[in-house]
Amino acid sequence: MAGARITFLSRCFMRQALLIVFVIIVLMLLRKGRGRARRTKEDRDSPAGHLPERMVECAFCGVNSPVSENVRKLGRYYCCEQHRDADA
Ligand SMILES: [Zn+2]
Repeated sequence: MAGARITFLSRCFMRQALLIVFVIIVLMLLRKGRGRARRTKEDRDSPAGHLPERMVECAFCGVNSPVSENVRKLGRYYCCEQHRDADA
């Protein structure tokens, strides 16, 4: 009788252990999936992505253009090299 009880208890324990392992695996998969989703969102929001670029005004003609397309001289932005040289 005692032996039957021990096997019953150990079977219960085994079932619980399996359940715990299953829950841990599910949680890990969920966390991994969520982490991947967050990473792709960060990629989308990162400056390397398609963020609207800062617009700067040409110090010579006043045209607004993305900062990466501007020519810089003494802290002032110009839309092209001609305007940079013209505004000496
Ligand atoms: Zn200009």
